[in-house]
Amino acid sequence: MAGVGGGTDKKYPLFVKLALSCICRFGFHRPPFNSVNHLHLHCLALPFIPRWKTVKYASLGPLGGFIEAEKLLEKLKPPTETK
Ligand SMILES: [Zn+2]
Repeated sequence: MAGVGGGTDKKYPLFVKLALSCICRFGFHRPPFNSVNHLHLHCLALPFIPRWKTVKYASLGPLGGFIEAEKLLEKLKPPTETK
């Protein structure tokens, strides 16, 4: 993945740096609530205007909904690499 900047920040992908800055969120819709039938990453500029759009990008736990890219990466890590 593409990284930006220098020094120790270089090891983080751009989407992780932007997500940590709280300017935007990155994530995926999970079936059956996916918007289209192919894998795509949402980049959401915050705050949501209008506010009701917050619901469209909320996690519904085991029912699906939206999952943040960072949380998905944690779930995909092999058990030996989890915290
Ligand atoms: Zn989508």
